[in-house]
Amino acid sequence: MNEGAAGHGCGHNMFGTASLGAAIAIKELMDAGKIKGTIKFLGTPAEEKYFAKVWMVKAGLWDDVDINLSWHPGSTIEADQQTGLSLIDFIVEFSGQAAHASMDPWNGRSASDALELYTTGINYYREHILPTTRIHYHIQDGGQVVNVVPDYAKLWVRVRDPKRTKMLPTYERVKAMAEGAAIMANVDYKISLVSGIYETLVNRTGGMAMQKNLELLGPITYTEEEIAFGKAIQKATGKPEVGMAGGVKPFKETDPNAGGGSTDVGDVSWNVPNINLGVSVAPYDTPWHSWAVVACGGMSIGHKGMLHATKALGITAVDLFENQKLRTEITEEFKQRKGSEVYEPMIDGPPPIGDNK
Ligand SMILES: [Zn+2]
Ligand SMILES: [Zn+2]
Repeated sequence: MNEGAAGHGCGHNMFGTASLGAAIAIKELMDAGKIKGTIKFLGTPAEEKYFAKVWMVKAGLWDDVDINLSWHPGSTIEADQQTGLSLIDFIVEFSGQAAHASMDPWNGRSASDALELYTTGINYYREHILPTTRIHYHIQDGGQVVNVVPDYAKLWVRVRDPKRTKMLPTYERVKAMAEGAAIMANVDYKISLVSGIYETLVNRTGGMAMQKNLELLGPITYTEEEIAFGKAIQKATGKPEVGMAGGVKPFKETDPNAGGGSTDVGDVSWNVPNINLGVSVAPYDTPWHSWAVVACGGMSIGHKGMLHATKALGITAVDLFENQKLRTEITEEFKQRKGSEVYEPMIDGPPPIGDNK
């Protein structure tokens, strides 16, 4: 791998290629007159930061879609039945009055005091939230130099829970705390919504259709060099040196453990039935969002996983086009799971195009 080459700690650099491969295979089958229907390939940017699919759903890109297929890199192969976590992201900014830190601090109103009081409040609150809920924050600006009372501070805050309905009250509390911190530090505050995503509505029927094809494809086999590479990654990250997990995991019923991740596929899954696939592109139990995933995504371990995803998505798409009964059962299950819930995207305003670095 070349230094400075593209890569991603969650394997997202492999998303598009694998999905496009499956879409092209379907298009070729259609051109040859072997299957009938429409295949739509959607490139979906900013999955890790702004969750662009939410805007794409709102814009109606899935309105004419019957069933959606998605995949995500992992360190095992499975027809994924995890719901993931719903989340909401917002920015809190505090604005005060700059002053000399020693000569005239009484003229200053410190935005970073508010920031510290705010995060202290959040951390006390952690004791009283549901065990399933997560709160994260990232300090983006806490002042620049030691000799100035900072007049500006900024942090990015995220609240998550496997259920959106349980996440929302915690979000309201965490948001309200910003006002408390601003009052204590005698500064102004501003809250801006960034984005929010639903938990994923799983589809067991669709998952079983995918599982059948994963078993048909069989395991990914690795060379001795690849297994050694995997073990070296595990050694370097302090994990047991067990190598690769290229076998297909047994199909799980709807997973009672939602998992720790969140995905904007969640919003898609409340509008159209979704089938999600997980494919191994890294050694077993590799630390995620880390250099270790990037390293494997740029060599044959990642490439094998990517091609495997193409095949699994492609074969399952063929089944969906050819099997009306399967489509109906997937759609019926979707309607049943969704029930009377009305989907409402948790975003306002246009997508932050140009701000996705
Ligand atoms: Zn990811
Ligand atoms: Zn990720």
